[in-house]
Amino acid sequence: MTKRVFIAALGTETNQFVPFPTGLRGYQEHGIWRGDATRHEPTNFTAPLHVWRKAIEARGWTAIEGLATFAAPSGTTVRAVYEGFRDEILDGIEAALPLDGVLINVHGAMVADGYDDCEGDLLSRVRAIVGPGVAIGAEFDLHCHLSALMLDSADVLIGYKEYPHTDTMERAAELFAIVADTIEGKVRPVMARHDCRMIAQYRTSVPPISELVTRMKSLEGKDGILSVSLSHGFAFADVEDVGTRTLVVADRDRAKAQALAEQLGRELWDNRERYATKYLTIAEGMERAASHNQGPLVLADRADNPGSGAPGDSTFLLQALVEREIGPALFGVMWDPMAFRVAEEAGEGARLRMRLGGKSGEVSGNPVDLDVTVKKIARGVRQPYGPVMVPLGDMALLSSKHVDVAICTLRTQTFHADAFKAVGADPADYRVVVVKSAQHFYNGFVGVAKEILYVASPGAADPDVTRWPYTKRKTPFWPKVADPWA
Ligand SMILES: [Zn+2]
Repeated sequence: MTKRVFIAALGTETNQFVPFPTGLRGYQEHGIWRGDATRHEPTNFTAPLHVWRKAIEARGWTAIEGLATFAAPSGTTVRAVYEGFRDEILDGIEAALPLDGVLINVHGAMVADGYDDCEGDLLSRVRAIVGPGVAIGAEFDLHCHLSALMLDSADVLIGYKEYPHTDTMERAAELFAIVADTIEGKVRPVMARHDCRMIAQYRTSVPPISELVTRMKSLEGKDGILSVSLSHGFAFADVEDVGTRTLVVADRDRAKAQALAEQLGRELWDNRERYATKYLTIAEGMERAASHNQGPLVLADRADNPGSGAPGDSTFLLQALVEREIGPALFGVMWDPMAFRVAEEAGEGARLRMRLGGKSGEVSGNPVDLDVTVKKIARGVRQPYGPVMVPLGDMALLSSKHVDVAICTLRTQTFHADAFKAVGADPADYRVVVVKSAQHFYNGFVGVAKEILYVASPGAADPDVTRWPYTKRKTPFWPKVADPWA
């Protein structure tokens, strides 16, 4: 008899330190598909569903597609919005019974009002409906709070290995393969996780931590090890499971999974100083920029990365560039729909004094007032992020004495140099380019940048995790404590 597999997606990355919640509009802006995501162009978050449907149908099985929606990273999701989407997925599963498998693309760091662990809540409710005999698999973003409830509820969890997340479809294919083998009784997956007692950021696209990705891959598919993930963690939330964890999926042997999870955790710990990303202060970043004279120096404004839920309108680095008169500099893409409205009204070529950024709260700093020329207005701009196109809304380029500022109306991080080119600013023409991104910009700028550096500022995604008020985490962590194992 043909096997029946239900597929769905629900998630967002919740930054609890930004001053605005994520409501229905946050999901609408990035798409809500009710059973038809795979009939549309894939997005970052629906791409796994496309992979799953193809793989299911290639076996002659039946795919039943439920809700698929993701919101851009932002503040805590409104309770009724989460519960509504969750229940829509659960109702879809109930209606689709009998099922052999359930595959869900989640984020892993979604927090809703009343729910610190949305993924654990969702997966446990799925398990309650389908019972123990149905294979449940979930793919998660490595910026995840990997909870015990997630492990207890699913058969197989697989996280992205790469940051930038270039491997979501590869991981989706692996997840399907293991879930399909589970349905056919070829394997019986068991999982174990290990708390690395670290909260840090890791850039897997470059050595030395790329070594660890290679090592994880080399362990998979032999000796009873089905899959190995490193959940980097997502630092900007006060939840019990905040922090880095290893995860191993083994065939039948939980002790083996646990031993390998601990061993990999120790390898990460031993290499923490080499693997964890180092950040410059604003002053150090400006010092480097001031002495940089060859081609663009790209500075990542890590703490205001909208991809980490930050507002995208912080001015700490803009203020520093203006004060130090470092130029020609290009800054953005900054989320400022109010400024766009003013620029649009003034029109291209207009010269005026404008108030830029700093509108979202203390985490965004103070607004910066500048004499600018409206160089260019562009509507409906999109930028590449890997194989998909990501919308920026409408954009304007505002040129001032030292710094050109690119602004947009749809809050998103800067993935690619094309975002600036859309308003006539070629990053190659500047001495310094500041991008609102933590790491996803990397592939889109590495071709043009002479050098790439990462700067920390007091924004909503400040990588200095020693300053964040974690109240729910139960074990100590590095770097707050030099040796959390003592
Ligand atoms: Zn991520």
